[in-house]
Amino acid sequence: MNKTMNEITKTTKLDNVGYDIRGPVAEEAARMAREGIDVIALNTGNPPTFGFFAPESIERAICDNIRDSEGYSDSYGIPEAIDAIRAYSESKGIEGLGYGDVFTGNGVSELISISLQALINTGDEILVPTPDYPLWTSVTTLCGGNARGYICDESADWAPDIADIKRKITPRTKAIVVINPNNPTGALYSRDNIAEIMNVAREHGLVVFADEIYDRLLFDGAVHHSCAAVAPDVFTVTFNGLSKSHMLAGFRCGWMVISGDRERAADYIEGIRMLSSMRLCANVPSQSVVKVALDDAYSAAPLLRPGGRLYEQRAFIYEAMNEIPGLSSTKPKAAFYLFPRIDIKRFNIRDDERFVLDFLHEHHVLVTHGRGFNWPEPDHFRIVYLPPLEDLWSIAGKMSRFLCEYVQE
Ligand code: PLP
Repeated sequence: MNKTMNEITKTTKLDNVGYDIRGPVAEEAARMAREGIDVIALNTGNPPTFGFFAPESIERAICDNIRDSEGYSDSYGIPEAIDAIRAYSESKGIEGLGYGDVFTGNGVSELISISLQALINTGDEILVPTPDYPLWTSVTTLCGGNARGYICDESADWAPDIADIKRKITPRTKAIVVINPNNPTGALYSRDNIAEIMNVAREHGLVVFADEIYDRLLFDGAVHHSCAAVAPDVFTVTFNGLSKSHMLAGFRCGWMVISGDRERAADYIEGIRMLSSMRLCANVPSQSVVKVALDDAYSAAPLLRPGGRLYEQRAFIYEAMNEIPGLSSTKPKAAFYLFPRIDIKRFNIRDDERFVLDFLHEHHVLVTHGRGFNWPEPDHFRIVYLPPLEDLWSIAGKMSRFLCEYVQE
């Protein structure tokens, strides 16, 4: 057996996968940082990097439970975490959850992999939003499936375009991914919009994957509607976790909840069980904080009100970016991302990856190009607005100066 590296790598499917934290631009930023250049990384939503920390009760809970967390847990999770997740889900209107409907995981990321691996046969199609959180497309591709993008409409506050969803359904379509609130657009979908998506899923027998990890980070008194609560009969897998709402991204603490017509999905659920037990269990110290965290599920609320850091940072970045000639954006209703549109004619932009690389080289700020979220045109980028106001002020100034002179060759 004398396989070259080239032959081995040929068996993977890493083309056609989007990225925000991977890829050549992020690698270039890492190289610059290794050379001692101070790079501001606005490519991941990692709250502690920017001075957001978990409530003290969580730190206490992990210390108090550390001795009991040393062994494997049941592959679903520890009972206290499962009960807390059930209670939280019920508070969102996802009812009738029994033993076996809740799975804990090492972040939502791991559960996205498990849930897609258990479902996809080669050639199956999964509807994903465009733009998407790229992990959904990547994992679908790696499982041998085809991710088909449905358009989220910028002119309608980035709401999913129902007609486009219907157009994209084929006999191979198995599931639809709904990311609400949305990364990268910061959109929050109306109940009517969700009801329409769920009607389509019901009509075509699709599994709904509802990624709701930002559901506790809402501005302006907005209300979040869970897909599974809007249509309790439709088979839905709802994803959530503590990376964002409790600023605990490093704990890798996530869960998924299965609801709706489980009888029809019995084989699929068995596949999820099998995969979930193959990785033994989720990190147990992290599970030990779920109850404390969900007893205070909305601990981030003060940050989202006028005077709160996230509220003020959103207000600033939205206005500052809109003031720059050639940029325009929709005001985010949730999460901590802005997805500005670039007037590509004005700057002769044909390659948005080149655009963010040029900005990185000139100003040492790393943002993510829109195509990293599988957006088809080179006319958007995403900025994470977690840095404090004074840093955002400086970043906006850099972008303004950069675009004053920028013309892509
Ligand atoms: N889903 C969405 C929409 C995200 O934006 C992220 C992280 O940015 C994740 C899932 C991954 O979350 P976790 O940290 O729980 O793996």
